[in-house]
Amino acid sequence: MHTQWESLANDHILGIAPYEPGKPIEELEREFGIHDAIKLASNENPLPPSDRVREAIMAAITTLNRYPDGSGFYLRQAIAKKHGVGQEQVVLGNGSNELIELVVRTFLRPGDEAVVPHPSFVVYPMIVQAAGGIRVMVMLKDYRLDLDAMARAITPLTKIMFVANPNNPTATIVTASEVEQFMSRVPERCVVVFDEAYIEFALGPDFPETLNYVKQGRRVVVLRTFSKAASLAGLRVGYGIADGDAIALMNRIRQPFNVNSLAQAAALAALEDEGHALECVRMIEAGRHFLYEEFKTLGLKYVPSRANFVLLDVGRSAADVYQKLLQQGVIVRPMTPFGMETALRISIGTPEENRKLAKALRTVLGKKPA
Ligand SMILES: *Cc1c(COP(=O)(O)O)cnc(C)c1O
Repeated sequence: MHTQWESLANDHILGIAPYEPGKPIEELEREFGIHDAIKLASNENPLPPSDRVREAIMAAITTLNRYPDGSGFYLRQAIAKKHGVGQEQVVLGNGSNELIELVVRTFLRPGDEAVVPHPSFVVYPMIVQAAGGIRVMVMLKDYRLDLDAMARAITPLTKIMFVANPNNPTATIVTASEVEQFMSRVPERCVVVFDEAYIEFALGPDFPETLNYVKQGRRVVVLRTFSKAASLAGLRVGYGIADGDAIALMNRIRQPFNVNSLAQAAALAALEDEGHALECVRMIEAGRHFLYEEFKTLGLKYVPSRANFVLLDVGRSAADVYQKLLQQGVIVRPMTPFGMETALRISIGTPEENRKLAKALRTVLGKKPA
């Protein structure tokens, strides 16, 4: 049975489940009458933006009566310089989420197929479906994207392939050699989207240089964001890098003022402030090792992480542990909607937040404090 409004809606969207964001801290504190709750549920950076970024934002306030620079000139210039590409190869988005949508709306025709890993970022299938495309879901293997199975899933109808690297929610990567092998099997008519939202936390000799595929003229779009390592999730700014012709097509349907002026100013300052991102990456690495030790002490299995979050197997109902952690003032993500009944995704926090999580886990799982 459809409601009256549903019978008016675009058929494509009726099958889409609404995106459920992590529970906000204020809501939890209100519901449980507690304070000092912490949120480790949305893979945000636990550190606020640097002073330099704050100053850039304050300076940009004086021109808020004006529309933003619709071309994002200075930010695109800085991004192009950083990556050694032309400015015409860079498109800005209201978060990289908007760019996922722009790529799909630009290239996917109704009835075309998109190859989507699973479990992975829920936004990919949602947007493919909204565009009238067909989602071809390919299961992970050992918590990692199965690029071999994804290549085998290509049909004459395949138009877009999503590679989240590192993957969310498993925090695993696919390596340079695996990607090279995969790219040798992808035909020219497929657009490969490398979503590298967490790249700063994953870098190492085994991590692929996907921008090289763009530079070689392959049909590749690389997505990056200021939401994670740069601490700017609240401002919504990300970017895509691809061939200039692909970017020009995406620009035809991009809203002219999609990235606001504070976001442009802040992102520009963040690019010039690599110290902040580096500090965050170091903190996250230390946090990972702290949590691994805690998980081992509790006898819990986890998937080694290349991002700022970790997938933990609590060995019992994750929904139940999630609820009990809420009562302790700790918000994490149960993986129940992905069919992982005993898994939680936990964002790595500040050392203090990690200690609070560890203590709450011990309490909830009935272990004595160390
Ligand atoms: C967090 C995240 C993003 C970033 O989205 P923004 O819109 O840039 O905030 C992109 N892809 C994945 C897989 C993510 O987890």
